[in-house]
Amino acid sequence: MATIFTRIASGEIPSFKCAEDENYYAFLDINPLAPGHTLVIPKHIEDDYIFNLDESTYQGLWAFARKVALAIKATVPCKRVGVAVLGMEVPHTHIHLVPLQSEGDMDFRKSRPVVTDEEKKQIAESILKEYEKL
Ligand code: AMP
Repeated sequence: MATIFTRIASGEIPSFKCAEDENYYAFLDINPLAPGHTLVIPKHIEDDYIFNLDESTYQGLWAFARKVALAIKATVPCKRVGVAVLGMEVPHTHIHLVPLQSEGDMDFRKSRPVVTDEEKKQIAESILKEYEKL
C-alpha cells in the first residue's frame, strides 16, 4: 500500500508543493515548526529509513534538498535553514528543512506557530519560484 507521502507526491492527497523533479518532491509540513518548514522526499522509493536508500537515491535526495534549502533561504526570512531526519511518525524517508531564527526553532517538542493555508500557499509558491530559478 502506498504511503501518505507517495500519495502526496502523486497529487492524490493535496499538498503545498515547493519543488519537484523526476525523482524528488518537496512540500510544506502540515504542522510546521516555523513558516516555510518543508519536507523533501524521494517519490518512488518508500523505504522509511534514509540510510537504507541506495547510494544514487541518497545522494540525489541531498542534492535536491540543498536546492530546496537555497530556495527557502532566498524567500523566507531566516538566519539559516536547519536540517533534521527523524521519521518517527511517517514511514517514508523524508528530510525536514526548517527556516531558523534561533536554535530553539529546531525543537520538535515545542508548540507550533499557527500558519494559515493562505500563508502556506504564498510561502510554497515563492519557494517554488526561487527553486525554478536555480
Ligand atoms: P517524522 O516522521 O517524525 O519526521 O514527522 C513527520 C512529519 O510529517 C511531521 O512534521 C508532520 O507534521 C508531517 N506530516 C504528516 N502528515 C503530513 C501531510 N499530510 N502533509 C504535510 N506534512 C505532514
